[in-house]
Parts: sequence; structure tokens; C-alpha cells
Amino acid sequence: MDNKIEHEYTAEIVCPHCGYKYGDSWEYNNDDGNKIECECCDKKFILSVNFSVDYSTSKIDCEEEKKEHTYIFSHFYHKERKYGKGLDYIILPEEEQKFYKIYICEICDNNKYDEITKEEYLKENKI
Ligand SMILES: [Zn+2]
Ligand SMILES: [Zn+2]
Repeated sequence: MDNKIEHEYTAEIVCPHCGYKYGDSWEYNNDDGNKIECECCDKKFILSVNFSVDYSTSKIDCEEEKKEHTYIFSHFYHKERKYGKGLDYIILPEEEQKFYKIYICEICDNNKYDEITKEEYLKENKI
């Protein structure tokens, strides 16, 4: 018996005897390793079904899954500028400047801004 593969990795099943190309190969997806009788020449051949796998990923959305965010500390932020159009900005007067401790959800990357005082900012954000 000759098990030599005659047609490798073709998109459709091709009979190794007569070269007949199937148009409905997907119907044989469960016949991996089985003997198939050619629809054209009636001779038998062994079919190998090769599946390919690919992967897609997406972030988990806590809100969609109705789960609490898992916040971890990210960085401090000193809001001292007010941006106009483009790259123009003005430096805010001291009493309008704000300080934040920023957390990021390690699951979905959602941000949380906790306002803190300037004293807290200076104490915690020593460089
Ligand atoms: Zn055939
Ligand atoms: Zn989250």
C-alpha cells in the first residue's frame, strides 16, 4: 500500500489518483485520517485534515463584566497648565492648580484621578 502524500496543504481536497478537486471539502472536516472514496474516479485515498489556528485578543472590560476595577497606583499629576487651542497654554494661578494621584486599572486600563493637596503631593512625590 502506498501512503505517499500526493497533494499537500491544498485549500480543497484533491484526489491523488485523478486530480479531481473537491468544491465541498469542508464537508470532510471530520474525516481526518479516514479513507475517502473519490467522488470522481471512485478510488480510495486517505485524507488528512489540517486545521490552522489564529488568535485574537481584546482587553477585559470591567464595566461590561460588572466587576470592580482593580486599581493600582500609576503616577502623580500636577495640573498647572490650562490648554487652549493647539499647543498654547497658560500657567494657572497657584490657587487653581490641582494635584492628583492617578490610579490605573490593571485589568482594563481605566484611569482614576484622586485629588490630593499640594502638601500630600510634595510629600509623596519626592524626586
Ligand atoms: Zn479521483
Ligand atoms: Zn477595570
